[in-house]
Amino acid sequence: MDDFSELDPSFLVAHDGENAYSAVVPPIVQTSLFTFASVKEMEDTYRGLKVRPVYSRGLNPTTRAFEEKLAALEGAEDALGFASGMAAISSTVLTFVEPGDRVVAVRHLYPDAYRLFETLLKRLKVEVTYVDGRDEEAVARALPGAKLFYMESPTSWVMDAHDVSALARAAREHGVLSVIDNSWASPIFQRPLSLGVDIVLHSASKYLGGHSDVVAGVVAGSRELVGRICSQTLPYLGGKLSPFDGWLLLRGLRTLPIRMKAHEADALHVARWLQAHDAVESVQHPALRGNALPPGLEGTSGLFSFIFKEGVDIAAFADALGVFKLGVSWGGHESLCVPGLVVLAQNQGPNSAHAFGISPRSVRLHVGLEGTTALVADLERAIQAATR
Ligand SMILES: *Cc1c(COP(=O)(O)O)cnc(C)c1O
Repeated sequence: MDDFSELDPSFLVAHDGENAYSAVVPPIVQTSLFTFASVKEMEDTYRGLKVRPVYSRGLNPTTRAFEEKLAALEGAEDALGFASGMAAISSTVLTFVEPGDRVVAVRHLYPDAYRLFETLLKRLKVEVTYVDGRDEEAVARALPGAKLFYMESPTSWVMDAHDVSALARAAREHGVLSVIDNSWASPIFQRPLSLGVDIVLHSASKYLGGHSDVVAGVVAGSRELVGRICSQTLPYLGGKLSPFDGWLLLRGLRTLPIRMKAHEADALHVARWLQAHDAVESVQHPALRGNALPPGLEGTSGLFSFIFKEGVDIAAFADALGVFKLGVSWGGHESLCVPGLVVLAQNQGPNSAHAFGISPRSVRLHVGLEGTTALVADLERAIQAATR
């Protein structure tokens, strides 16, 4: 690929090189195994003298095509596809920590990442310190002696956006490996490796897939670090991306740049409308916090939350919505709503709602691609139903 292609995500997602039969779309190589012509070829492959697909828990041409495209989008040497975002997170973290190690994590993590840290990592005698990622001095104080620094920016519910390059620099100064969950911004709006982070990962179930029809994850970084995950944990935890899901992700990526711009514009429109509404106390959106976006965050996506004023019947609000559906996840074409009170009532694993920073009067919205006219009308009607 030439320099232009490396710089332009729209070209990267549209361009594939050559496919078999000159097909515009790459085939789905839907097979679990690949056979050999001779014992010699088999032996050479097992010895590592020859690289070719053997079994789809390892290498498969369709998942590989997605991995290469994602690596190019993140400016990474290599990438590795997983069966879910959590498989990507657990395989990555478990590659780099051992008993007695300490992890520093920003607070208000994605809930299941937090629960992984509070259950499995604890059983492995790995300690986790949570810090406010906006407080660079607190992060610098926590880093010495740590093995891994785990970031998410903006954070899952309250949408704190961090200065990722400053935090990554601090981690490097203390010799701590840095990892970031970049699901919210996608590589269209934030390329963490260029900001000095060592490893970037995604729930590909969100914007990378973009159509709410696949659960998947991906990790990208240097050949060395991705290679360690690929050889030391992925084969044994076994959460590899499947060929069909890899194909769905390749299709989803085609429209990632234009989808992200539409999510950004429409979510900003809806968030500003909410901010001006009498029933709303505050809006938790990185672009509406009064200060500029941190360096390296070049745009905002469709996911944000807001807090209702006292006295609003939030269940009545959510039940009255029609275009916004009640549902978890996000990143697809459809608009979604999750009331904070539901998450606070969840009874799964260490339920430390305060660890997620969720207010009982908050509501998280994902602004999909239905257009702002219908979305604002839907919200207006639901707020009326909730404030009668
Ligand atoms: C959904 C999500 C995950 C987990 O991804 P799955 O694909 O559901 O396993 C991780 N991080 C963030 C920020 C998420 O929203």
